[in-house]
Amino acid sequence: MLWPMNSLVWVELDAEAPDHNLRQLKAGAGGRVPICAVVKANAYGHGVDPMVHLMPSADWFAVNSLEEGLRLRALRVRKPILLLGHVPLGSLHEAIRADLALTLYNRESLQALSRLELPPGAARIHLKVDTGAGRQGIRPEEIEDFVLELRRIPGAFLEGVSSHFANIEDTLAHEYAEEQLERFNRALETLAEMDSTPPIVHTASTAAGILFPETHFSLIRAGIGLYGLWPSRETYLSTLLSGRHPPNLKPVLSWKTRLVQIKTLAEGSYVGYGCTYKTTRPTRVGVLPVGYSDGYDRALGNTAYVLVHGRRAPVIGRICMNLCMIDITDIPQARLEDEVVLLGASGTERITAETLAGWAGTINYEIVSRISPLLERRVVTPRPPGL
Ligand SMILES: *Cc1c(COP(=O)(O)O)cnc(C)c1O
Repeated sequence: MLWPMNSLVWVELDAEAPDHNLRQLKAGAGGRVPICAVVKANAYGHGVDPMVHLMPSADWFAVNSLEEGLRLRALRVRKPILLLGHVPLGSLHEAIRADLALTLYNRESLQALSRLELPPGAARIHLKVDTGAGRQGIRPEEIEDFVLELRRIPGAFLEGVSSHFANIEDTLAHEYAEEQLERFNRALETLAEMDSTPPIVHTASTAAGILFPETHFSLIRAGIGLYGLWPSRETYLSTLLSGRHPPNLKPVLSWKTRLVQIKTLAEGSYVGYGCTYKTTRPTRVGVLPVGYSDGYDRALGNTAYVLVHGRRAPVIGRICMNLCMIDITDIPQARLEDEVVLLGASGTERITAETLAGWAGTINYEIVSRISPLLERRVVTPRPPGL
C-alpha cells in the first residue's frame, strides 16, 4: 500500500463539494437519470479512498482496472461498479466474484467467459460500441455476432450497452457527436430487433451530460464535473450558447506545501539546474519541497505562480524532482514553514487547475490526475462564511 511520503506537501479535499457537484449534474439532467461517478486514476488524482465516501448520492461507480474495482469493494462500496478497461482473460473470474460489471469488446473475453463455470447471469456485461471514438469498442456491424455469442453463455447477462464521444469537449460545433449518436441509436435498434435491449444504456460523460439530454439514456458517467472542474472552456461556452443554466461546480481539490528555506541572493545569481534563471535584483528566494515527482509538472519552471499570504509569487528556475524555487521578494512577511498554495485559493487570489494547465500546456484533467498518490489527502470541512 501507499503511505504519505512527505508531510510538507498535501492535498486538501472540500468535504462538501463532491456530492454538491454530483447533485448539480443530476439536477441539470432533470433529476431522474442516475449518475455513475467515474473514479478512475485515483479519482482523477484526488484520492479514491476519501472520494468514494464523499459522494453518497452516487448511484454507480466506474473505474478503469480490475484492481481499482477490487479496491472500491475493499473500501466497502456496495453500489454497482463498472470496469471501463480491459480485464485480463485470466482474471475475469475475479471481477465476477467481486460483482464488478464488465465493459466488453473483445471476442476473446467472451470465449474466456464461456469457459468459466458461472452461476446463471453472474457476469454483468456492458457491450461497448465504437461509434467513432476509435478506441475501445466493437464496430456496429459486429453487434449481432457478439450478442448471439453472448446468448450462448448462460453465466453472462447483457446488462448494458455503451459508447463514448470523441470530441464534445473540443468544439462548439457538435455534428460529429450527432453522427456518433445516430450510429449508437442504430445499434440500439439492432439490439431491439434481436430482442436484446439491455436495461442500462449509457453514452454521456460530463460534457454530454451537461449539453445533450438525448445522450443521457439510463445512466450518466460523470468524471471531471464531480471534481468541480469543467471539461473545457468550449463546454462552458456551449452551455451558455445553448441557453442552459450552467451547473454550479465547486472545485474539490487544493494542493499545498510549506516554505522550507528562505534566503536572499545577490543580483546576478543563478537559481536551479541549468542556470535558467538569473536574478535581476537582490532576490528573496523561497524553496518549496515539491517537484515533478509529486506531479508538479516540469513545464511549470520559470512559468507558474504559487500563492503565499494571498499574493502571487513566481516560480523561478527549473522544477526539480522534489524541489522548486519561488521569488518572494515582494512578500516580506513570508516566514519559514508558511503555507504555500500550488493550486487553490489564498485570500482573494486563486490558481485553478485550468490556469496551471494553461501554464503547463495541458488540460485540467492531466494536472489533477497526475498529482502523486503518495501525497496525503486531508478532507476539510469548509468554514461557513463569516467565521
Ligand atoms: C473517463 C471516462 C468518463 C468520464 O469523463 P469526464 O469527461 O471526466 O466526465 C466517461 N466515460 C468513459 C468511458 C471514460 O473513460
